[in-house]
Amino acid sequence: MELLYNLQMINKAEKILKDVFGYDSFRFVQKVAIENILDGNDTFIIMPTGGGKSLCYQIPALIFDGLTIVISPLISLMKDQIEQLRQYDINAVMLNSSLSFEEYQDNVNSIRNGEAKLLYLAPETLLMNRTIELLKTRKISCFTIDEAHCVSEWGHDFRPEYRQIAEVREQFSNAVCIALTATATERVRVDIKKTLNFSGSCEFMSSFNRKKLFLKIVEKNDPKNQLLDFLKSFSKNDPGIIYCFSRKQVNSTTELLNKHGYLARPYHAGLDTEERKTNQEKFLRDKIQIIVATIAFGMGINKTNVRFVVHYDLPKNIESYYQEIGRAGRDGLRAECLLLFGFGDTKKIEYFIGEKEGNEKIVAMQHLRDILGYVDSVKCRRIPLLNYFGENYSEENCGMCDNCVETKEDLTDMTDVAKKLLNCIIETGNMFGPTHLIDVLRGSHSQKVKKFNHDALSVYATGNDLSKKQWFTISKQLIKKGLVFQDPEYGGLKITQLGQKVIYEGETFFGIFPQEIKKLKKSAKQKSVIMELSEHDSELFNALRKTRKELANEMGVPPFVVFSDKSLVDMANKKPKNNDEFLDINGVGNQKMEKYGSDFLPIIKKFSPNTTDEFIVEEKDLDSTYDNNFDLSELHSNMKKKTKIRKHTLVGNRYNDGADIEELCSIFKIKEITVFEHLKKYMLDGFSINPDRILSRSSLDIQTQKKVIEHFRELSTDTISPIYEKLNGTVSYNEIKIIQLYLLCKG
Ligand code: ADP
Ligand code: ZN
Repeated sequence: MELLYNLQMINKAEKILKDVFGYDSFRFVQKVAIENILDGNDTFIIMPTGGGKSLCYQIPALIFDGLTIVISPLISLMKDQIEQLRQYDINAVMLNSSLSFEEYQDNVNSIRNGEAKLLYLAPETLLMNRTIELLKTRKISCFTIDEAHCVSEWGHDFRPEYRQIAEVREQFSNAVCIALTATATERVRVDIKKTLNFSGSCEFMSSFNRKKLFLKIVEKNDPKNQLLDFLKSFSKNDPGIIYCFSRKQVNSTTELLNKHGYLARPYHAGLDTEERKTNQEKFLRDKIQIIVATIAFGMGINKTNVRFVVHYDLPKNIESYYQEIGRAGRDGLRAECLLLFGFGDTKKIEYFIGEKEGNEKIVAMQHLRDILGYVDSVKCRRIPLLNYFGENYSEENCGMCDNCVETKEDLTDMTDVAKKLLNCIIETGNMFGPTHLIDVLRGSHSQKVKKFNHDALSVYATGNDLSKKQWFTISKQLIKKGLVFQDPEYGGLKITQLGQKVIYEGETFFGIFPQEIKKLKKSAKQKSVIMELSEHDSELFNALRKTRKELANEMGVPPFVVFSDKSLVDMANKKPKNNDEFLDINGVGNQKMEKYGSDFLPIIKKFSPNTTDEFIVEEKDLDSTYDNNFDLSELHSNMKKKTKIRKHTLVGNRYNDGADIEELCSIFKIKEITVFEHLKKYMLDGFSINPDRILSRSSLDIQTQKKVIEHFRELSTDTISPIYEKLNGTVSYNEIKIIQLYLLCKG
């Protein structure tokens, strides 16, 4: 019995996933976690950013009959989630200080009267007496703790109030508890479970491998130009984040970008709150392309279409690096992560570590070693990265990091140059660091060269053809590829067995020849999302993006709330022709189809190669055309005389012949909303329809009908969404459509 019940629940969850959110299937961890939640067990979910944590509690919330409380650390996060949920017509509210008195009261009312399905709160608000009293008026089905690392002292944004959530929860002992985080370290995990009293078998962790992030590390030798070069491969519509070490660096980089025509804004703790907020908001709403930030930026950013993250300086540890790159590509599309690595950065960090003391110093040193291990790795970048989070990565080639895609084409035979440096190491006695060796190769007259008589060596001044920087890069490649060993304490270079093979046994050395400025264009080619589309389709993509932005502006929400880039790419690829096909697009459920289908489909149509689908063949209606004695051969010949009539004309004619909407749905196998679309086109073609018949479909009371009509007149708009927003979502899209049609019929 119970089993059957659970099966029904999970089927229900799958149906909601498709109908409401527009996705075909659950990701593995989502599925098992939701099953566990629906079984009534406390559930701890660990997924990387973009893994799809939100659905893990939002779908159960829609299935539970009581209220789901979501504890969230930031108002901006709450707002974001609520805006997104409203797009699906899900009733979610928040209680916090950003609300006006009326808004607060409205929200309280909708909690009391059972309309709200989800309530977002900060832990501080939860702990207030009046909140607890309010919650006691409702059945509480679920407590969700988002960003659960805040519970842990070891987490990066610890908030003491989080530790009291467990006490509050005891007062609502029938509610199931869900905790979600993207922080994977063992210590934080253990601490969260302990604090929340979770049992051992409640943990669901998905792989931390973000397959669509391209990981690339480039030696920093001319950062400004390297950055500009990198950006060239993106369109000016591709949003990105650039992380810098210092405020000063943030400011000068922002200036550089603005000078080169990019819309970039700074974000760091030195700016006043207002300016930071404005800059962040502009970025979220696609009004600027790039945010240049210190690590202060990112928490609470839900933007899904970030296409690149650049680390202009070395991040301080792998965990923050992983979090920062994790802000890219949350929509599941390819995104680029570039780290510019300079030796000077290591020195800077070492200096700061030197200022620390005791345990803190030891931990910081370990962090630095870990990140340097990642930077220096010659193997797939995913091996050290995932290893850090306790995961074994065993793929031979990930195809999405510089080490894996560094193809033979990129490599050139550099044996001759390598030999020069190797010989220089040998002739100077396997003890000098790169700076001196390069001085010798480039024929320097430095005191050190003279002191050791190195100007008398046969290698002296044999490397004038290359710059200092180029030689440095080559020396690093030799170290990286194991031909040379660098003494960790003194920095002196020594030749290894591998190196000897090149010198004495004629082995070839393949490396990447250091251009003066390292060109990044090669992998850049596929960078931009729209680059994955043909030229024609990317034009369509841009048109869709424009409409999305206009709609988002009208409604005052960020564009990704309307549709993710992934949905738009899917539209540009599949070119849906009607509502039913539109429903097949990734991220399009019933609500979004109703809301936006009529805005996006006409644009797609313009870009579609043929519009013949618009025409359907009218087959003779057997009942009316033929009597019972008809001749089969006559039927056949008649069938061949098919006439082409536009579908909407057919639908309109049938309607005017007396067919009602339900009949039309079943005859043409279309949804009600599609019938309305056809009738609209029919009328725009110049035919007329009896307005009262249309109005009779409306189930609104006369007052509300009047209100909708007024709004249409007032806003003089062709789109439904602004009216919907104006009415605060109290009137459904379908109803608004009926009134729109009625107005059209009246002319
Ligand atoms: P997180 O909170 O883990 O960072 P989100 O919940 O914001 O991630 O989800 C990231 C993106 O993935 C969102 O655009 C979301 O709609 C999408 N997504 C989530 N689950 C699925 C799924 N099962 N199929 C397709 N897309 C999904
Ligand atoms: Zn790899």
